[in-house]
Amino acid sequence: MSDAVKLHVFYGGTFDPVHNGHLAIACAARDALGVDITFLPAADPPHRPAPGASAVDRTAMLQLAIANVPGLRLDLREIEQHARDSNLRSWSVDTLRALRVELGSDASIAWLLGADSFTGLPGWKCWRDLFQLTHFVVAERMGSALDEAIAPELAQMLDRRWVDDVAALHAAPAGLVFRLRQPLQAHSATDLRARIQAGNPWRHLVPTTVADYIGARNLYGSAHTAPFGT
Ligand code: ATP
Repeated sequence: MSDAVKLHVFYGGTFDPVHNGHLAIACAARDALGVDITFLPAADPPHRPAPGASAVDRTAMLQLAIANVPGLRLDLREIEQHARDSNLRSWSVDTLRALRVELGSDASIAWLLGADSFTGLPGWKCWRDLFQLTHFVVAERMGSALDEAIAPELAQMLDRRWVDDVAALHAAPAGLVFRLRQPLQAHSATDLRARIQAGNPWRHLVPTTVADYIGARNLYGSAHTAPFGT
């Protein structure tokens, strides 16, 4: 993409492991917004229990997953920060403050996330401040209705922020919310880990290179699983 593009889109998450649902959403966002999408994996996720695979393995799987996909990138700042100081927790608000300093006050920044994460926004550190730092691009998710599940305080914050026009995201630095309409993805990392652990079919839910990595490293108890048939 050209350097003139001013919209920077970051896709945060644990990616434990990255699955085809994540990739489909990133590609849908890339195509809808016309810009590259940067995966930004969390080191020590503040909103959920510790991940099942190490940051090294989660990173390796992300690298394999995006290797041949145009327009998808990786930013390891949270993981590298944690490697330097394991007492540091990577809050999204701190990451976004750092990105804002780096990219400048005029740059458009957007945070891509699923509807379940978005409706949980009031639980995030300094969640109201996030709207001064970034736009949100919300991917609809099976089982997470965006229209009904919004808490009143979030609904109030969202007043007049929804936009349908991609150009509006490019034109403002932060504060708008765009609904990414895409075919709903049934995938979830929790379900994937449970399938692997139980020896149920799972390989079709991740890229082949990621499935091979999981098998080779016996991640998530994959030694239980037949090597190819599943
Ligand atoms: P888990 O099932 O353990 O919650 P996950 O599959 O949601 O994991 P995360 O790494 O937590 O994976 O997800 C990163 C981001 O991707 C989150 O914002 C999440 O809402 C979104 N996401 C993941 N899977 C989907 C999906 N199938 N549809 C829409 N959004 C998704």
